[in-house]
Parts: sequence; structure tokens; C-alpha cells
Amino acid sequence: MYDTIVIGAGQAGLATAFYLKKIKHNFLILDKGKEVGESWKNRYDSLVLFTPRMYNALPGLTLEGESHGFPTKDEVVKYLKQYVKEFELPIQFLTEVVKMHHQEGIFTVETNQGIFQSKQVIIASGAFQSPRIPSFASNISKDVYQIHSTQYKNPSQLKEGNVLVVGGGNSGAQIAVELSKERETLFAISKKITYLPLVIKKKSIFWWFDKFGILKVNSNSFFGKAIQKKGDPIFGYELKEAL
Ligand SMILES: Cc1cc2nc3c(=O)[nH]c(=O)nc-3n(C[C@H](O)[C@H](O)[C@H](O)COP(=O)(O)OP(=O)(O)OC[C@H]3O[C@@H](n4cnc5c(N)ncnc54)[C@H](O)[C@@H]3O)c2cc1C
Repeated sequence: MYDTIVIGAGQAGLATAFYLKKIKHNFLILDKGKEVGESWKNRYDSLVLFTPRMYNALPGLTLEGESHGFPTKDEVVKYLKQYVKEFELPIQFLTEVVKMHHQEGIFTVETNQGIFQSKQVIIASGAFQSPRIPSFASNISKDVYQIHSTQYKNPSQLKEGNVLVVGGGNSGAQIAVELSKERETLFAISKKITYLPLVIKKKSIFWWFDKFGILKVNSNSFFGKAIQKKGDPIFGYELKEAL
């Protein structure tokens, strides 16, 4: 019986584990992946984060390199592995939580590796686990090769010819820019894009957000709601230039 089970060994789960370890708590992290950093490892090859190193570091360990610079996804994977090693965080991999129930103060966590029990559970399983594929995708001719951004690695996966990138979040924007360098690329978006600079006066925009308190705005406040309504901006002007 554990005091706490943490589900997920991504940034959220590892940062939580850091603090649990600090107070010598009896806990275990369960993760369905085979190693730490899999969420990042599986993303497209050219992925460079739009958040600078200083804001990707977890508590207790600096992410080496220029603090206002942007890490590649491989750098993040390496860092997360180093983090687990440094703080000797207890993780059981290849263990997928499929069900959980709570009775008389005890959580029973069912996994593909058996049952675990604990007094508390922290769910840190991430927000990007299931790709959303719009229903119209199934009406498109079978001759058109379709791929979701979660399966996209690099342009070599695609057939020859032009390509339509559907969706204007940061993933769509980065993939469209990459493809536009080597083939005719069309871009479909449902609303006007808001662009923000990545860097202002040699400092990451997230540093300015932090200084002006924007990173800590309450999501239920007037300002918080206004930011959410606007949707995610595209960081940097590469897409604007490519268009
Ligand atoms: C393409 C892309 C680019 C991004 N770029 C940035 C960026 O530049 N900067 C930034 O700050 N954020 C970025 N994000 C968002 C960022 O990845 C997430 O906010 C962050 O990784 C969330 O961390 P997490 O620990 O909550 O989840 P994750 O890192 O997703 O970790 C969740 C963990 O839970 C495990 N898990 C899930 N379900 C189960 C289960 N049932 N049983 C056991 N284990 C389970 C998974 O294996 C995984 O290891 C990007 C996201 C995407 C998709």
C-alpha cells in the first residue's frame, strides 16, 4: 500500500514526485510508456519548443544551455531522463492505468500489470493523449494520404505533390512552415491567426509574461477569460513569412 500513486511521468508527474521525494513520502509513479520523455520523443523530428529553457526546467534542476534559448524535443527528453536519475524517482513503466475506484479511504488502481492500492492518487496523465480527427476526414478520397500531427515525423512520410495542413495551432504552423520549404503547401484555419514574437529585446516573451504577471492570471478572472477566448497565439513569425 502506497501513500500516493502518481499516474504519468511527464513534466507534471515528475515535478510532483520531486516534492514527494523531498518529504520522504511513500509513493510510486505509474507510466504506460517504456521510458521517460516518450510524449516528446514521439513528436515530429524538427520540433523546437516555443517556451525557453528557463521555463521548461522542473524544480531543483536547471536545463543546461542559453536560458532564453529554445530547446529541441530531444534536449527535453535528455533532461527528463537526467531529472529522474538525479532525484532517483520511483517509476514503474509499461503500466497503463485502465480503471480506478475509491472505497473506505483507499484507491484501487487497476493497470495492465495488476492492481495497486494507495491512500491518494495524483493524475498527471497529460492533456494531449488523444488526437482529435474531425469527422470530415473519413469523406476524403482514399487516394489522398492523410496523417494526424501525432503521427507526422518529417516530410519523407508524405507522397509526392502538394499538401494541405489543416489546423492553425503551433503544431500546424510549424509543420506547414517545414513543408513549405520543399513543396506547395496550403493551410486551412478556422479563425484569424494572432502572432506574437518569440523574443522581445533578447528576452523570451514568456519572461515578459512572467514579469507582467500574465503567466499567473486566474483563469476565472476577467483578464483570464479574455485570454482564453482569444485562443492560442502562434509564437514567432515564420508562418507569417511562409504564407
Ligand atoms: C506538438 C506539441 C508541442 C508542444 N510544445 C510545447 C512548448 O513548446 N512548450 C510547452 O510548454 N508546452 C508545449 N506543449 C505542451 C506540453 O507538451 C504539455 O503541456 C506538457 O508536456 C504537459 O506535461 P504533462 O506532464 O501534463 O503531460 P505529458 O508530458 O503528456 O505526460 C503524461 C504522461 O502520462 C502517461 N500516461 C497517460 N495516460 C496514462 C495511463 N492511463 N496510465 C499510465 N500512464 C499514462 C503518458 O505516457 C505520459 O508519460 C506541446 C505539445 C504538443 C502536442
